[in-house]
Amino acid sequence: MGKRLVILGAGESGVGTAILGVKKGFEVFVSDFGKIKETYKQVLLHHEIEWEEDGHSEKKILSADTVMKSPGIPDTAPIVVKLEKAGINVVSEIEFASQFTEAMIVGITGSNGKTTTATLTYALLERGGLNVGLAGNIGKSFAKQVAEDDFDQFVLELSSFQLDGIKSFAPHIAVLTNLSPDHLDRYDNDFQKYIASKFRIAMNQKEDDYFIYDADDEVLVEWLEKHPIRSQLLPFSNTKKLEKGAYINNEEIILTINNKNLTMPIASLGLQGKHNQKNAMAATTVATLLKIRKATIRECLESFQGVEHRLEKVLKINNVMYINDSKATNVNATFYALDSMETPTVWIVGGVDKGNDYGDLLPLVNEKVKAIVCLGVHSEKIIKAFGNVVDIMVETQSMQDAVNVAYKLSQRGDSVLLSPACASFDLFKNYEDRGRQFKEAVRNL
Ligand code: ADP
Repeated sequence: MGKRLVILGAGESGVGTAILGVKKGFEVFVSDFGKIKETYKQVLLHHEIEWEEDGHSEKKILSADTVMKSPGIPDTAPIVVKLEKAGINVVSEIEFASQFTEAMIVGITGSNGKTTTATLTYALLERGGLNVGLAGNIGKSFAKQVAEDDFDQFVLELSSFQLDGIKSFAPHIAVLTNLSPDHLDRYDNDFQKYIASKFRIAMNQKEDDYFIYDADDEVLVEWLEKHPIRSQLLPFSNTKKLEKGAYINNEEIILTINNKNLTMPIASLGLQGKHNQKNAMAATTVATLLKIRKATIRECLESFQGVEHRLEKVLKINNVMYINDSKATNVNATFYALDSMETPTVWIVGGVDKGNDYGDLLPLVNEKVKAIVCLGVHSEKIIKAFGNVVDIMVETQSMQDAVNVAYKLSQRGDSVLLSPACASFDLFKNYEDRGRQFKEAVRNL
């Protein structure tokens, strides 16, 4: 690899790659089309790394040997097109950083459940005494951790954008949680292209690597049948018995891998909902492959309560439970949230529509939802979709309003669920901001 490294985008992964690059003796230049956060500027300054903001110095960038493109920058960005034309090696942070670590890698991707599964997997391995790091889309960047910490294993949460930029990266254990349409704007509105991108997680795996996947996901299974991969398949399912992998029978998780067995009643899982049973099976499969003790796995599955903004129980007021599922930014995530509701539900939904098809939700909404509170810009579509099955529908334009209305509409024994099925950028900075505002509004009641 030549030694001139240019980094496009100075966010968490860009700055992390810069630090790793310097440590490995590269001549590093960081270029951001927008403004760089003050805290990141300080870090770059501290490491004496050259940077620019508000635009790209093309000549300098085109003289690079390797370019690390941050995941937020699309392939269609003019500078990226020019780099491709010039034949310059453009990689993602994950590709770059993986070349400088000997750690055993668990890569987790999928449309939904990545963060929950990655966090739970990390918890299991850490509790099991391994010297393990958690990175990727979560917290401190992978590159920074490779530069600064010496882990034996890494659990990486990987988005399709990060996988698009890999060339030789090969996780020893790959997890594909599920596939449903998301971010299609980056894939020419072609679901097949998006699926292909997710499956890149397995493209460099070898025969003794593992691929853990949801055997109930028809799209995923069909693709796998048509495009076989080299690694060993370990499926999980909550609808059918499996000889190998993990499944649910008589309200128990049953796991069989390489002559190892584990059973665990689903009632004792800390996480709620069918989707979380799947996440738990995926994480437990990884932990079993890495020889974590059964007792440790059981303890950890019992105590793990999930990640903020994912079906997070906020407060009970007048015997009404308020639940924050702000991270549900697509219909499939909301499907599982509604599916897990066990009491009549006042559902706060809406935001920026991503070409949503609400059809799949109709039976669940019919069964579980007593009132809908629309929040944000794209309410008409929601009203049209559910007008025939829910009598009470109210439109709101602020979180406090939405929560106040939900409070009035709910009775003892109900739940109020924020699960928007939409992006948050109309009224909020991001889904975290939306979730925090929800929690604050609930506390203000
Ligand atoms: P990701 O990191 O892939 O976005 P998260 O774990 O952050 O996944 O969860 C995102 C949303 O999807 C949350 O609303 C969560 O309740 C829901 N979810 C979590 N796991 C699954 C799953 N296996 N299938 C469908 N939805 C899920």
